[in-house]
Amino acid sequence: MGKCAACGSKSTQKNKTSVFPKDPDRRIQWIAAVRALRKPNWNPTKDSVLCEVCFIVFKFYIL
Ligand SMILES: [Zn+2]
Repeated sequence: MGKCAACGSKSTQKNKTSVFPKDPDRRIQWIAAVRALRKPNWNPTKDSVLCEVCFIVFKFYIL
């Protein structure tokens, strides 16, 4: 697994990473969250992942 798209953390046992959802609606929400909270001009690649810490933060943004 790669590094978290939002914070750059590597995947570890304590902080696992998740791939971006395939579902287009959810995927757009994840992308919007990364852009709003971390990187305004960010675009995902097929290898993009989010770590658990960022996912928890983003969960409040991703409804
Ligand atoms: Zn992260």
